[in-house]
Amino acid sequence: MIPYGRQDINEADIAAVVKVLRSDFLTQGPAVPAFETAIAGFCQAQHAIAVNSATSALHIACLALGVGPGDIVWTTPVTFVASANCARYCGAEVDFVDIDPRTYNLSATRLAEKLEQAAVHGKLPKVVIPVHLCGQPCDMEAIHALSQRYGFRIIEDASHAIGGRYKGEPIGNCRYSDIAVFSFHPVKIITTGEGGMALTNDSGLANQMLRLRSHGITRHAGDMTHAPDGPWYYQQLELGFNYRMTDIQAALGLSQMQRLDQFVSQRHALAARYDQLLKDVPVTTPWQHADSYSGLHLYIIRLKMDSMKVSHREVFERLRVSGIGVNLHYIPVYRHPYYERQGYKPSDYPEAESYYAEAISLPMYPGLTEEQQQEIVLRLTTPIGHQTLF
Ligand SMILES: *Cc1c(COP(=O)(O)O)cnc(C)c1O
Repeated sequence: MIPYGRQDINEADIAAVVKVLRSDFLTQGPAVPAFETAIAGFCQAQHAIAVNSATSALHIACLALGVGPGDIVWTTPVTFVASANCARYCGAEVDFVDIDPRTYNLSATRLAEKLEQAAVHGKLPKVVIPVHLCGQPCDMEAIHALSQRYGFRIIEDASHAIGGRYKGEPIGNCRYSDIAVFSFHPVKIITTGEGGMALTNDSGLANQMLRLRSHGITRHAGDMTHAPDGPWYYQQLELGFNYRMTDIQAALGLSQMQRLDQFVSQRHALAARYDQLLKDVPVTTPWQHADSYSGLHLYIIRLKMDSMKVSHREVFERLRVSGIGVNLHYIPVYRHPYYERQGYKPSDYPEAESYYAEAISLPMYPGLTEEQQQEIVLRLTTPIGHQTLF
């Protein structure tokens, strides 16, 4: 099976991990702060807080921004469930903003309309979580301008997007957001096995997220309610978690960083080849914004159903049967039973619905060969039995 995504591990990565295993610290040693410094430097952000997943990063980001019961958080329906679950962990309500038909990202136009309505009904969101789907940045300038007008905070779910750029600057620099989050799951751009990172330029938010990742505990006398009882002393100031990244993971991440730019440019070369191979096939290939550079975590095509003689599902199943690990990113979040029970109406999200009826993620990862790409497109276009596809 050709998977839709996979990690790229070399001997240097293995050596970096082994070196930690032979060292004094498997966790809370020097590798985590070194990884944080490297990511913050790469992204030109002031602070970076490593955690054990992007889901954890999204959770502590919401908490640091004060999300709680009675609050409302908005995100896109076309995302992994974690982008919405983080608000639910805090007891907040979630609502969705329909997607842009060209980028499949949260639409800034729909956001503006929905905010205008919400202001009338007194139901404005506390936080909006735009997701840079496939690594292509959302219209952050517009979303940021709306945040100034309506008073909400912004968490960028940049799980797909490390190594990409928006208007010439690195994604993750938080120029247009309070906090940005990366994922280092093995299918993402770089990996630590499991892992995530929260970036911010606000030292208050950074300190709070640092505490929340480790039980709400501080060892800084300045943060304590009274002078330390002695050298052993620490205080738990709030209810936090064990969301720490290990040094084993951080060492892998640091080693992977050496190849980050290379990974992203390889993804661009693969996308260009797919674009070429698919140019006479009735599918919509990914649209790329002229002023951004996508991380290209995913390569999503949309079948032009008007030209198709078979269903979306048949095309998808046939590819899977042929050993092509296609996927669908994502089932709109409101369609999951957990969210469905909260009464969302699919008809409120016509763009997400038509996207879901047409989208297929083709395999995309460094190391995918030209022959494999040709094979994938051949499988996509050859007839099913006697039935031509289009
Ligand atoms: C992968 C992903 C997450 C969750 O990442 P983990 O590191 O697995 O917790 C969150 N949001 C999006 C958009 C993702 O793709």
